[in-house]
Amino acid sequence: MIAERAGTRIEIRGTVQGVGFRPWVYRVAHEVGVAGRVHNHARGVTVEAFGGAAALDRLIARLREPPLPARVRELIAEAIPAEPGDEFVIVHSAEGGPRALSIPPDLATCPACEREIRDPADRRFGYAFTNCTACGPRFTIATGVPYDRPATTMAPFVMCPACQREYDDPHDRRFHAQPNACPDCGPKLALWSSRGEPLAGDPIAEAAARLVAGDIVAIKGLGGFHLACDATSDTALATLRARKLRDEKPFAVMVADLAAARELAMLSADEAALLAAPERPIVLVMRRGDAIARGVAPGTGLVGLMLPYTPLHHLLLGAVGRPLVMTSANPSDEPICADNAEAVARLGSIADALLVHDRAIATRCDDSVARVIAGVPTLLRRSRGYVPRPIALARAVTRPVLGVGAQLKNTFCIATGDSAYLGPHVGDLENLSALEFFEHAIVRMEDILQLRPEVIAHDLHPGYMSTQYAQGRPRVHHVAVQHHHAHVASAMAEHGLAGPVIGVAYDGTGWGTDGTAWGGEILFARYDDFERLATFRPVALAGGDLAIREPWRIALALIDDAFGGAAPIAQLPLFATVPARSIAVVRGMVRGAIHAPLARGIGRFFDGIGALALERSTSSYEGQIAVAWNLAAAPDHHGTYPFAIDDAAAIDLRPLVRGVVTDLIAGVAPGVVSARFHDTLIAATIDRVRAAVASHGRVPVVLTGGAFHNPRLAEGVRAGLADLEVYAHGEVPPGDGGIALGQCLVADAKCRHG
Ligand code: ZN
Ligand code: ZN
Ligand code: FE
Repeated sequence: MIAERAGTRIEIRGTVQGVGFRPWVYRVAHEVGVAGRVHNHARGVTVEAFGGAAALDRLIARLREPPLPARVRELIAEAIPAEPGDEFVIVHSAEGGPRALSIPPDLATCPACEREIRDPADRRFGYAFTNCTACGPRFTIATGVPYDRPATTMAPFVMCPACQREYDDPHDRRFHAQPNACPDCGPKLALWSSRGEPLAGDPIAEAAARLVAGDIVAIKGLGGFHLACDATSDTALATLRARKLRDEKPFAVMVADLAAARELAMLSADEAALLAAPERPIVLVMRRGDAIARGVAPGTGLVGLMLPYTPLHHLLLGAVGRPLVMTSANPSDEPICADNAEAVARLGSIADALLVHDRAIATRCDDSVARVIAGVPTLLRRSRGYVPRPIALARAVTRPVLGVGAQLKNTFCIATGDSAYLGPHVGDLENLSALEFFEHAIVRMEDILQLRPEVIAHDLHPGYMSTQYAQGRPRVHHVAVQHHHAHVASAMAEHGLAGPVIGVAYDGTGWGTDGTAWGGEILFARYDDFERLATFRPVALAGGDLAIREPWRIALALIDDAFGGAAPIAQLPLFATVPARSIAVVRGMVRGAIHAPLARGIGRFFDGIGALALERSTSSYEGQIAVAWNLAAAPDHHGTYPFAIDDAAAIDLRPLVRGVVTDLIAGVAPGVVSARFHDTLIAATIDRVRAAVASHGRVPVVLTGGAFHNPRLAEGVRAGLADLEVYAHGEVPPGDGGIALGQCLVADAKCRHG
């Protein structure tokens, strides 16, 4: 007798799209012997299966354990009426429900493909463009929709019969793998001289030999070129720094595997998992030992590590047998270089050779950067591997909105329906090529999503290039969004909070509604509006941005303010390194308010006090002193300096500054001073949040802004508010790279009111 036929509908959520999940479901359905169908939709994947009860149970059990990189977060099965038929089919996305973005992010090489490129008996042995439905390029090769081979930069490559058979076979790992290729039919590597002339020999072996010999090699990756060199060689590092005109800014390092990463850094379980995740971000970790050259990240214990994410990386790392510096090839802060001819023109003076290939990059996409902060894996830069994966919105937007982001560390965001798509990292919008990349990436994302925004949200700052771009777009609603409000809304959106919230937005600088520069702000916020509850007493930046490069200027302004002009600078070694005349000039500027704008960003306190205690008068890149001052804090020391709250509800840190100066003159170690400095900022923050709760009620608290990249600050504030509902960032960057999401939601909320 034939077993009773039953039916089940299985709703699956998690990482289940663009990772070969549906073909895998198809194969499992065949293995366990059920009929039915599988389809994708905006929220995940639905399977409807029909067959014997035992077979359906086996199916459900198997579906809970998909192969990586797929991950099932939630699986709900319910009985449905049985249907006849014995076929199991993949239903294509377009046939049901609202259109979901069909282009997934770029995915790191999967274990099965990695085995093939290392297997001398495999037809893809040593092939640098091996991929399958579970891995390979996606977003960076897509030129349009639907995501199908003709709409990718793989279009010029015609599959050979063997590849075509894989592509057509639902039982094959490469069923509908759009970039499928092999050495016979796919892209090829070439090694070029710095002038673009082909060099003889096997490209990988020859590039590896040059790297081992100390050369700089430009390498075409997924989303752009890297500049690579031997990370263990002081001379190679010195050459790279000299040619790239980058004095001290840290470089990222690629290592062959987790074991190699552990030789260079202490890794927690969370950090190891983040490094090995299929998105493969650069992970900031504490280095150990001296296996990598000092020149990789001078003067800091933090180092950015990443694991190989393309077959080319695996092959190259295997051939060199040592860690490689892999830094984005973007001379003078321009966008990452992506085109072969452009690479010769722009990188020819930096690199000794270029390892290129003939698969074009459709959209530039820099490496993502992440760090485990207060136990939470946090993206500091969200780009390759994550873009264009949507962020699910708890409340759908009424019309498509484009948020254009800020000026520095720019990313944009397009929100439509219940999804928000953050674009790739564009970087600082301070030159024409960055603006061109920004405009191109927006057009590409609009094309991929097949929409034109009806609302454009931009920063209040009239001088930002992003603001000017937004205002230049016709026939849309323009909504200006205050910078810190956008930060807070971004954190709210990430966690699906409806508001109101108490938002702690500790940031560098942002244009305030009163036309002055705001910085460290505590807001009571909803999406459509906010009230400013607290800020910091400002400090003068003598010379504007010059003060950020020469933080002794900030230190001087802080102590003059704290001591009412009678500062004991003769007893502070920092000022012995500065010419007396410069000190007099800066004092004149501050006193006369001449080219000395007031800043309220708490980063400026890190710059100024860090410079004072560490006796470092200059900073060679943004954040250098602030990070050094954070890392200086003695982990086991706790204590605070006094602080005050002034009549305008501003946190007044003059008592802290006096305490720091007294300690330094008394010879207290900088590590102890830094610990007390951090704990004081934490205490002041907790004090103001408590006051906000008392006046505005017990609502959720969000922590946002670049200052929350600082683990001690983030951990301390969270610990002190443990009885409240506190949210920090994870998948959306706390800094300006995450602000566009908040802009979208604020603009949508404001538009609802007409
Ligand atoms: Zn694969
Ligand atoms: Zn082939
Ligand atoms: Fe900001």
